[in-house]
Amino acid sequence: MPSPALGPRVLLRRLREVMAEPEIAQARLDRIVMLIAANMVAEVCSIYVMRAGEVLELFATEGLKSEAVHKSQLKVGEGLVGLIAEQAIGLNLADAQHHPKFKYLPETGEEIYQSFLGVPIMRGGSVIGVLVVQNRTQRHYTEEEEEALQTTAMVLAEIIASGELKEVAREVAIDVAHMRSHNFRFESLAEGIALGEVVLHEPRVEIHNLIAESIPKELKRLGEGIEQLQQQVDELLDGSDAMRATDYSDVLETIRMFAHDKGWVNRLREAVQTGLTAEAAVERVQNDNRARMMRMQDEYLRERMHDLDDLSNRLLRILTGAAATASRTDLPQHAIVVARNMGPAELLDYDRSKVRGVILEEGGKTSHVAIVARALGIPAIGLAHGLIDLVDPGHEIIVDGGTGEVFVRPNQDLQKAYAEKVRFYARKQAQYAALRELPAVTKDGVEVELNINAGLIVDLPHLHDSGAAGVGLYRTELQFMMAQRFPRLSSQIRHYSQILEQAKGKPVVFRTLDIGADKTLPYLRQPREENPALGWRSIRMALDRPALLRLQVRAMLMAGAGQEIRIMFPMIADVDEYLQAKAAVDSEIAYLNKRKHKLPKLLKLGVMIEIPSLIWQLDNLLPLVDFASIGSNDLVQFLFASDRGNPKLAGRYDPLSPSALSAMRMIVEKGRQHGKKVTLCGELGGRPLEAMGLVGIGMSSMSMVPSGVGPVKAMIRSLDQKKLWSFMEPLLRSPTHSLRGDLLEFANRHGVVL
Ligand code: PEP
Ligand code: MG
Repeated sequence: MPSPALGPRVLLRRLREVMAEPEIAQARLDRIVMLIAANMVAEVCSIYVMRAGEVLELFATEGLKSEAVHKSQLKVGEGLVGLIAEQAIGLNLADAQHHPKFKYLPETGEEIYQSFLGVPIMRGGSVIGVLVVQNRTQRHYTEEEEEALQTTAMVLAEIIASGELKEVAREVAIDVAHMRSHNFRFESLAEGIALGEVVLHEPRVEIHNLIAESIPKELKRLGEGIEQLQQQVDELLDGSDAMRATDYSDVLETIRMFAHDKGWVNRLREAVQTGLTAEAAVERVQNDNRARMMRMQDEYLRERMHDLDDLSNRLLRILTGAAATASRTDLPQHAIVVARNMGPAELLDYDRSKVRGVILEEGGKTSHVAIVARALGIPAIGLAHGLIDLVDPGHEIIVDGGTGEVFVRPNQDLQKAYAEKVRFYARKQAQYAALRELPAVTKDGVEVELNINAGLIVDLPHLHDSGAAGVGLYRTELQFMMAQRFPRLSSQIRHYSQILEQAKGKPVVFRTLDIGADKTLPYLRQPREENPALGWRSIRMALDRPALLRLQVRAMLMAGAGQEIRIMFPMIADVDEYLQAKAAVDSEIAYLNKRKHKLPKLLKLGVMIEIPSLIWQLDNLLPLVDFASIGSNDLVQFLFASDRGNPKLAGRYDPLSPSALSAMRMIVEKGRQHGKKVTLCGELGGRPLEAMGLVGIGMSSMSMVPSGVGPVKAMIRSLDQKKLWSFMEPLLRSPTHSLRGDLLEFANRHGVVL
């Protein structure tokens, strides 16, 4: 029976000495395997390194035949070594040769060794090699020995990842996943194409100092770090008191739970006891967690492990003093920012002239940062799960915001193709810019008013760049969603005044708060509801809490003193709701009058038509309002009883169906009969084919994403409206699922630019 191992501390001390000496990589590896074998009283110690093509190659050995070095190879999943790499877990076997996965490699001479202990060598969540010890006799390696080998594997990971091994063999694919090209299709958040270099929003913390000089000192550092971390997390949670009901607070709670979790803290302490520095211990435990995460099927548990990963990163930053986020100004010329998630304000902090694209692992279409990216015209992609683990800062990457595609480390051909696509995109934009001053009039003389949708101050320059007539929908809730607490009257007045000022006299339609469903305020307690889209939201909430609505209306009236102002109410379901909202405006006018405040010189009030019930009240409603705007996003969702945010339903029903188009046609007709302006401000208006259908049914005003104005204007200028209407009219009575194909054919036949 071999004598017990000397323990990892001695080994780590020796390893540190070996690493400090100037030596070529192969010699260093040879000494390392010798040291490990001696320390663990093993007859064999071998290091396998991952090479291109997911092959593990024997890079150094003590005990096996030396001729096998750089010859013996196993594929991932093949043999015991391949199994460890595949599953990212260690194997501890007394009788290895009878394991079903055992694969005999004759050149190694390993047939005489019975017991086997192997652990993965991991970096950033991927396996980059395998470290093995073997003994002739059937022995059980202790848990301490397994721990010691894992700690040693971590030190080896550093050597492998440092690139030193390139001297040893050509084409070493260190960390294969980090070298290969990949392409993915994720969720498109904002249009546009960009080629650039990866910038990690939260840079990885690089640890170079792995081996402790003094364990008591490292334990103390770890203890202090954890204390600071717990404090940070508690503050984070306390600071978000009002968020308790939201999902975000669940995440924070989980993080707090981990931060105070004795098990986690104990594992960190044990890792330091094996001879690692505090930061190396954090990484060691993080590697174990990541390996577990890789094997987890349950989506919820994986998410929680992600939270633990976040926590480890926080602790690493505390211990190493590394910056929490990427420098906002010192960026490469073509930066593609990759983040797990980020807030809208964080994106706004980056140097706009250098950020060419944004990729988020978590953010979806409705995330606020996506809205900001669209406003800034930055191509963006969301739900890019797992991407961060595959990229390093400086790696080349292509973002295609139109298709949702991401190309990591694209090859030359792809880069060329995309560079051409970027030029094509730029040429198209230039063509649209040339249309800026031209009217949006059809070939047969029908004028269509084009406006933009906005929600942030940064949107306003697009009003002038695009040549739009005005802002047809200003979503005021975005200011509220980005604030830490309810914006005061003064800050609301300031915001609306800035918008009016930047609009330079072009009309702006301010929509009152449309909160609820997917739009939540972090500081506003909202009850959990079975069906939030059909729930206590938007104008319903405003009428029940009149103080909020009145404050907002007051701010709008004050900001518009002496000017024209337009206010629109969302989610109106019947005439009475409009009258109540109007009464709030009247009270505010009376209030301001009484205090001798200057009032707007013109006030127009409108409603959004986005709840189907209103369609049968238009004869009663339209005489009372100044204008109406179809919110097609919600109208279509409620017409088809089809959740607008549910990806499983996306594309199931088409707004270009006879039913949706007929409903909108009815609204347009009623507007004409009553001499009231009817417009549309849903996403439909910004897509040329859809906009063509709308112009076909007589829509003469639309509001859309700013990037839609150019393409929609080009479509309008090439269209004959009357011809299109004659084509569409009979089709509206047909039982067809969608007119999309017919409209496309019409456009092709008549040379309509789409
Ligand atoms: C709509 O519903 O069409 C609309 C414009 O409003 P929102 O997308 O903000 O709900
Ligand atoms: Mg809506």
